[in-house]
Amino acid sequence: MIVGVPKESFPGERRVALVPGVLANLKKAGLDVVIEKGAGTEAGYPDSTYSDKGAKVLATRGDVFATADIITQVLCYGSNDRTGKADLALMKRDQVLIGFLRPLGSKEVVQEIAGKGVTSFSVEMMPRTTRAQSMDALSSMATACGYKAVLIAADTLPKFFPMLTTAAGTITPSRVLIVGVGVAGLQAIATARRLGAVVSAYDVRPVVKEQVQSLGARFVELGIEAKDAQDSRGYATAQGEDFYARQRAAMGKVIAENDVVITTAVVPGKKAPVLVTAEMVRGMAPGSVVVDLAAERGGNCELTRPGETIVDSGVTIIGRINLASTVPYHASSLYARNVTAFLQHLVKDGKLNVKMDDEITRETLLTRGGEIVNGRVREFFQLPALAVPSGA
Ligand code: NAD
Repeated sequence: MIVGVPKESFPGERRVALVPGVLANLKKAGLDVVIEKGAGTEAGYPDSTYSDKGAKVLATRGDVFATADIITQVLCYGSNDRTGKADLALMKRDQVLIGFLRPLGSKEVVQEIAGKGVTSFSVEMMPRTTRAQSMDALSSMATACGYKAVLIAADTLPKFFPMLTTAAGTITPSRVLIVGVGVAGLQAIATARRLGAVVSAYDVRPVVKEQVQSLGARFVELGIEAKDAQDSRGYATAQGEDFYARQRAAMGKVIAENDVVITTAVVPGKKAPVLVTAEMVRGMAPGSVVVDLAAERGGNCELTRPGETIVDSGVTIIGRINLASTVPYHASSLYARNVTAFLQHLVKDGKLNVKMDDEITRETLLTRGGEIVNGRVREFFQLPALAVPSGA
């Protein structure tokens, strides 16, 4: 089978879905690779690095879609709501599509993808199990985002992060608060600690307390308990507005004590909860920084403008989106390893093997044979359950 890698088309996107380092493993699995000319250039992988490893470089995007049995992208139509739609015209029936598809985004968009008859797999739906860990692209990208958020904060803050003892006196370390301690939050804690900041962190899921402490940060207790904070998949559950109001009331003082606040709090399929109000921002010292990693999902800070940086009463609120794309070499390398592990799972003896009794396949399969076939997605969009799951 042939795997095709088009150049990412989302404006400013620098990642690429496969890197030359994974081609040998794909070959072993019976998969040849074609890439669109220049697909890896912005991530630091020139065309020659692919052709040296046996990939064919094709001149146009159309050639890649026409040649490949499997297309893999980082941002497919769905997650690429700016330019992704153009790919619909290039897709072929029964072609396999693997990438970020934003399955709980717009029903109409997912239906459009289904309508092309492609067999699409959404990497966002990868189960959070030990077996699927090597295929977990969401975690890889969150790692890049958590790391970069801290660097951006450090670059913006008019202070040093570490304590410094100098001939001119001692500088006290900056204080960094991480709100939401999933994969991005944990990486942010580790990165801020490496830079010498005093770090504290808060999450609605009490189980993360030990993880926070093991990274040398303090876990913030707000004295309010969330009901069933975590679902069976390890994600936070949505809480009522009453809980969020109590959370905000308790959080104000904590926020004011910090120089930097990095927020990452999201709930799958929901708008991000507002945890940092305008009033809290105005309670922070001038020069302080808020980096809102939930910006793309509406933001955890009331003042966040997705994709923009604003200054309000001396506090900088950074709502940058798509941060993983700003570490494109390593973000692509991690993503490529995730996709390769997934392909090794899906392809047996050079053929696509869609086994619906396999949890990884079943949970990631989004569309097939013209329909949205994913049970969770159908339920989310209130579509009737399929009588016989396609491919069963
Ligand atoms: P996420 O991106 O869905 O959310 C980020 C964090 O925000 C979560 O920790 C969540 O609890 C928190 N949050 C949500 N609402 C909040 C609120 N109101 N206040 C404070 N915090 C709030 O999280 P993620 O990075 O995808 O991780 C989700 C879970 O999956 C974690 O338990 C993580 O350890 C686990 N995980 C497991 C595996 C695996 O086992 N293979 C892989 C990756 C992640």
